Amino acid sequence: MHQLVFATNNAHKLQEVSAKIDGQIKLLSLDEIGCFDEIAETGLTFRENASIKSRYIHDKYKLDCFGDDSGLEIDALNGEPGVYSARYAGEHGNHAANIDKVLKGLQDQTNRKARFRTVISLIWNGEEHFFEGVVEGTIRHERSGSEGFGYDPIFQPDGYNVTFAEMSLDEKNKISHRAKAVEKLVEFLDGV
Ligand code: IMP
Repeated sequence: MHQLVFATNNAHKLQEVSAKIDGQIKLLSLDEIGCFDEIAETGLTFRENASIKSRYIHDKYKLDCFGDDSGLEIDALNGEPGVYSARYAGEHGNHAANIDKVLKGLQDQTNRKARFRTVISLIWNGEEHFFEGVVEGTIRHERSGSEGFGYDPIFQPDGYNVTFAEMSLDEKNKISHRAKAVEKLVEFLDGV
């Protein structure tokens, strides 16, 4: 069976991908290959950060691997928070502070266009492949909803009048940036 490492320790992400891939591929987490290294996300783009993760594992363990990176891009903030999405207000993972900073930055702004983007870098048989997923939307003036995580309470996807945080996980997973990128990855793997 072909082994494939997902360069993440996020059990939820691992489960999401596992459920979708063919039985011919055994998906392994970083824990499972005994990798506890802190892989610094020093890239300036999602592509670079996804690549840093997949290449690190491939170089060190000689295993096929993929890594992902995601974030929110807001047009009126010149694409911010972008690769800094998790630590926009300074402290990694402080979603409340991150949202406050976005809302403050967009005060009096009429252009509220934004998108979530995910990029996956896969190293397969020594070659790198990229898969990307995007969901377009707008930033609300206030938070709404309690599902999901991160910027979900202020992001309204185009074609809906609710935020990501007002959708069930199933509903969000049908249209999300991550789901779209994962679908493309799975399509590729199904064809190998
Ligand atoms: P990651 O690369 O998937 O870990 O995402 C980095 C950061 O982007 C997260 O910490 C969130 O702040 C933001 N983000 C990514 N995906 C989502 C999402 O689906 N909803 C809300 N925020 C997200």
